[in-house]
Amino acid sequence: MSQNLQSVRGMNDILPAEAEFWELFETIVAERLKSYGYKPIRMPIVEPTPLFKRAIGEVTDIVEKEMYSFIDSLNGEPLTLRPEGTAGCVRAVIQHGLANQATQRLYYMGPMFRHERPQKGRYRQFHQIGVEAFGFAGPDVDAEQILLTARLWDDLGLEGIRLEINSLGQPEERARHRADLIAYLEQHQEVLDEDGKRRLYTNPLRILDSKNPALQDICAAAPKLIDYLGEASLAHFQGVQQILRDAGIPFVVNPRLVRGLDYYNLTVFEWVTDRLGAQGTVCAGGRYDGLVQQLGGRPTPACGFAMGVERLIALIRDAGGEPAPRGPDVYVVHQGEAATRLAFRVAEQLRDNGLDVILHCGGGSFKAQMKKADASGALYAVIIGDDEAASGDVQLKALRDPDVPQRRLAADRVAGCIIDQLVDTEEEES
Ligand code: ATP
Ligand code: MG
Repeated sequence: MSQNLQSVRGMNDILPAEAEFWELFETIVAERLKSYGYKPIRMPIVEPTPLFKRAIGEVTDIVEKEMYSFIDSLNGEPLTLRPEGTAGCVRAVIQHGLANQATQRLYYMGPMFRHERPQKGRYRQFHQIGVEAFGFAGPDVDAEQILLTARLWDDLGLEGIRLEINSLGQPEERARHRADLIAYLEQHQEVLDEDGKRRLYTNPLRILDSKNPALQDICAAAPKLIDYLGEASLAHFQGVQQILRDAGIPFVVNPRLVRGLDYYNLTVFEWVTDRLGAQGTVCAGGRYDGLVQQLGGRPTPACGFAMGVERLIALIRDAGGEPAPRGPDVYVVHQGEAATRLAFRVAEQLRDNGLDVILHCGGGSFKAQMKKADASGALYAVIIGDDEAASGDVQLKALRDPDVPQRRLAADRVAGCIIDQLVDTEEEES
């Protein structure tokens, strides 16, 4: 295929075998979110560029170098493919006044875009499931979101994901810490890498988040934000920890946990696994009480997180938890004009009864059709030829159980017969 007809680097097709599992995954997550009172919201994939600059912060990795931004050639408007969902969700909440008189628990799923170096667990189009709660100021909702994710890992059969939490305090507390941190890092300028030097006066907190091994020692010894928190911030942090302890959810406080986006305050958390190499964070979030007002809304406390779908799915696969793809219940094989008409009628009847049916399309010999039936993974083949069509019968063949003899029966009895057999097998298995 010519070079320009490939997908964009770092943007992947999710092919049917995988996409089927994605759907199942999304359903499990959505059900769990609904069980905690979360409602779906869907926002556009493209937003005005200034939204992200204001929400995420000008001196963050995302805004500095990862955004797919472009000018709408028709009207000159600066636009960006969303790199994350919170900014757009907050914009929607403000635009429609959703949080004015009410609290909101919202979730969304979909693609996000960041111009990063593609590697395992890191793509340029990737998918997040984002969860946001608006109008709750206390530690309860932060903790509830963490409980929700812990329960979700159970639902998904995932083990060994550690929870790390931290508190970023309030802006004034961060400002005092920042001054001391800059003074400290200035003394170690010679060790700082290029990113570090650049960040020293713009976003020094992010230096602590650096993955550069050479910086680990000076980062470990740097002034810790937690020592700058006032009484209220500490009480909030303790409140979250108390609920987690009560719920029996193990966690570690990681004083170096900061988030890559500017808008966070108080609680931040990450769920991390060792099984995915360097890209080990599968879920991350925290509180962002200032963002709604910062984007022009009424002051509204808020808290949220996002899960990385590709990373979670890789983890489920790694744990052997991906179910085998399922074929249809029935594959209908038919030859001859009258047989085809009966086949359509029978297939619709089977579907009326809730069965998944593939009706063979495209003709071919019985032998070739039976091969397709087998390859489809179907449990049963319904076979209709001239003879059967003439008497209104079909042949029913169990494809996965050679001990069950093929039998001929009236077309309108076949649905009932298959359902009875499926129920029997289910009872045997349980
Ligand atoms: P990282 O430190 O891995 O770059 P981040 O702090 O940039 O992550 P967030 O903005 O918090 O990530 O996004 C939440 C989650 O989305 C991450 O924990 C991760 O699971 C997933 N994620 C982020 N960027 C990517 C990407 N480029 N490809 C795949 N998943 C991603
Ligand atoms: Mg990143």
